[in-house]
Amino acid sequence: MSTDDCFAIDHRLLPLTEAYSLIAERVAPVTGIETVPLASCAGRVLADPLVAPLTQPPFDNSAMDGFAVRAADLESGNRRLDISARIAAGHPSQDELPPGTAAEIFTGAPMPAGFDTVVMVEDCKIEDGTVVLPEKIKPGSNVRKAGGDFQQGDALIPAGRRLRPQDIGLAAAIGTLKLSVRKRLKVGLFSTGDELAAPGAPLGPGQIYDSNRPMLRAALQAMGFEVTDLGHLPDKLDALTTAFGLAALDQDALISTGGVSVGGEDHVRAAIERLGQIFFWKLALKPGKPLALGHIGQAAFIGLPGNPVSSLVSLLVVGRSVLHRLAGAPLDAEFPAGVTLKAGAGLGVPGNRVNFLRGSLAEKDGELAVLPYFSQDSSLISSLAGSSGLIELAAGDKPVEAGTPVVYRAYDSLMR
Ligand code: AMP
Ligand code: MG
Repeated sequence: MSTDDCFAIDHRLLPLTEAYSLIAERVAPVTGIETVPLASCAGRVLADPLVAPLTQPPFDNSAMDGFAVRAADLESGNRRLDISARIAAGHPSQDELPPGTAAEIFTGAPMPAGFDTVVMVEDCKIEDGTVVLPEKIKPGSNVRKAGGDFQQGDALIPAGRRLRPQDIGLAAAIGTLKLSVRKRLKVGLFSTGDELAAPGAPLGPGQIYDSNRPMLRAALQAMGFEVTDLGHLPDKLDALTTAFGLAALDQDALISTGGVSVGGEDHVRAAIERLGQIFFWKLALKPGKPLALGHIGQAAFIGLPGNPVSSLVSLLVVGRSVLHRLAGAPLDAEFPAGVTLKAGAGLGVPGNRVNFLRGSLAEKDGELAVLPYFSQDSSLISSLAGSSGLIELAAGDKPVEAGTPVVYRAYDSLMR
């Protein structure tokens, strides 16, 4: 990550679009490249473009079980042909077949030389070693042409794609044994706050359980990063500084939750500034206004807010983009476009920040619509579990009425 100071826009709320541009400009891949057997490549980031070394399919072949013929042989109107061969998948016909005959052929089997059309078996009658074909036959039908899928030299998968099962299939189709992929991004995760108790321990007075760390850990794992749980830290500047400084030595990125706002017990920003630099920390984003992006040595630092909803939303909306870029996956770093649907209910006044409301899909007046969760308080973790995605509302001072088109993104599209 560049240490240039242009991120430091301390005096105003940085609009989200500007934050994205800064991230795209400034955040470069930090992960090295390794060669990995194809069977272990799912979810990994492709380091070099995948180019086809061969043509697929390599030969013309039958798309059906049936009879291969030459369309020219049928021009006389004759529909009864001798059966000259039987060609199964994986067993090409070695001989030149006599003209005026048909070859019994199976799906995926290579077309015999000179034959150009397949008639499906359901349309044929077999009588005494001959086949009787139907009247109407379209020349060239039911044949898959060589190269119909892709040609040698075609660009198949761009570098920077996090490989999905279908990408693994495509790589296998060109005979790939191993691929060059980015090393996994190492992400260290802390939670902060004197009030937090570990699940399993009894709750003391004034305590709540630490829910953010397990939640963020699961989200980061779903995004494909190598997550190290670095535990829970107290609201003490010295303790934060020591722990962050040590962790920065062997992680590519550090993430904390809590303690990043302006309260007297919020020491995360001061700790980062002691050890490194903050690029920005105030975004025009609701929830998630305090969100620190900076670095400590070689490690990027993302300080997420403590309210459970704010911590997850700011990870999904901003942190994810930073992390995927660090991981060499600019394609995954893009904020998904989402789908535009009508609001199924009034959504309130957005105010001077872009809003991300928790919501779900619902049918309204026979149309698909989005409905907000009944409470949008950013401290309610139940609102995250009770919704299926985020509704984006641009900043504005007018109430967003029911029926207004809004952009919806499913959590699934943001947790990958
Ligand atoms: P903070 O950002 O530290 O001021 O925290 C804001 C609110 O989020 C407070 O009510 C905290 O108790 C709560 N909070 C902070 N961290 C966590 C966490 N890891 N799990 C659950 N709640 C948290
Ligand atoms: Mg706190």
